[in-house]
Amino acid sequence: MDLYEHQARELFKGYGIAVPDAAVVDHPREARRAAELLGGRVVVKAQVKTGGRGKAGGVKLADDPAAAEIKARQILGMDIKGHTVRRVMIAQPVDVRDEFYASYVLDRAAGAFLAIASAEGGMDIEEVAANRPEAVARIPVDPAEGVTEAKAAEIAAAAGLPPEAADVLHRLWRVLVREDALLVEVNPLVRTADGAILALDGKVTLDDNARFRQSRWGEESAAPDTPGAGPAATGTSAGTDRLEATARAKGLNYVKLDGQVGIIGNGAGLVMSTLDVVAGQGARPANFLDIGGGASAQVMADGLDVILSDPDVNAVLVNVFGGITACDAVAEGIVQALESVHLTKPLVVRLDGNNAARGRAVLDARAHPLVEQATTMDGAAARAARLATT
Ligand code: GDP
Ligand code: MN
Repeated sequence: MDLYEHQARELFKGYGIAVPDAAVVDHPREARRAAELLGGRVVVKAQVKTGGRGKAGGVKLADDPAAAEIKARQILGMDIKGHTVRRVMIAQPVDVRDEFYASYVLDRAAGAFLAIASAEGGMDIEEVAANRPEAVARIPVDPAEGVTEAKAAEIAAAAGLPPEAADVLHRLWRVLVREDALLVEVNPLVRTADGAILALDGKVTLDDNARFRQSRWGEESAAPDTPGAGPAATGTSAGTDRLEATARAKGLNYVKLDGQVGIIGNGAGLVMSTLDVVAGQGARPANFLDIGGGASAQVMADGLDVILSDPDVNAVLVNVFGGITACDAVAEGIVQALESVHLTKPLVVRLDGNNAARGRAVLDARAHPLVEQATTMDGAAARAARLATT
């Protein structure tokens, strides 16, 4: 499944790749408003799942909000290679000094990934690749080793990209791996007049075989596992199925277990070790939920909602290691979640990593009677285990 440019852009942002500020709209009048908010001068870009939008007239610069409205009116409804434009992205214009090309693609024949990069990116990359293949570096990436910082530097050097671009190559690889993508492409990757490296366009193709764990992208239709349909061969109750379906519909990875401690963590590895540590403290996990990288308020509210709906849960352990999503953002998420979720069970929170101290301060300031914090994973697990079993 291909993502729209604006979706790819959001993903990139989440992995620390710089992108221009932008908004997506479906009406010319909203384009004008978006342009006003973005400072007047904007680029209006057709959102269709095909390339070559620039050459087709689907990418236009507008000097002011009135022009943005006019350009949006021209582009909305346009047909680009058989795709009707239903939405446009209004983006802050960038003062481009150089345009590069960067991508990773699965090379099935080689059983590896291929990094493709060029210092001559932009709308003519196909011609460059056809006429001057030496201007396009093609470097195999061993899937087991991945793109380390050293590898990213090697790719940048081979393609003639500036050394600063290596950081984006490194992050882009993480997008590919963490999002289960078969292709990530940035064309153009630009260097601005003041030396910043930005992704000005993005194409991401997700592996449909991994949709079960990247479910936030699918328009989830009616839950496939209707409660009560067929014999309950797995021993899980209809209620559990319902919770799993609810979680899936919200794009959350929820798994029901048979203990008493509800577990929310970010990242599969951390969640798995949290299960072990809770077990090591003499309690058993009732369920777990991996909120992944996007520990926003909404995700946290959805997550707590699901976890607390499990009647087996006696206490909840939130174990988050702040990375790209910093701990203070996670803490804000918890605080906001407490507005909408009626907390009836004790919540033990352990925040570590990026901005942990600030995150703890946010929760301290909220001072919810059922929320307590622990500074270590062992300490948090011990506390949650005790609350759940006594
Ligand atoms: P595509 O044609 O579908 O690949 O769409 P792109 O998003 O790549 O846009 C086409 C071209 O528009 C890019 O290759 C850039 O050269 C140009 N472009 C897009 N946004 C900007 C911008 O903010 N500033 C400048 N100078 N050029 C831009
Ligand atoms: Mn492009």
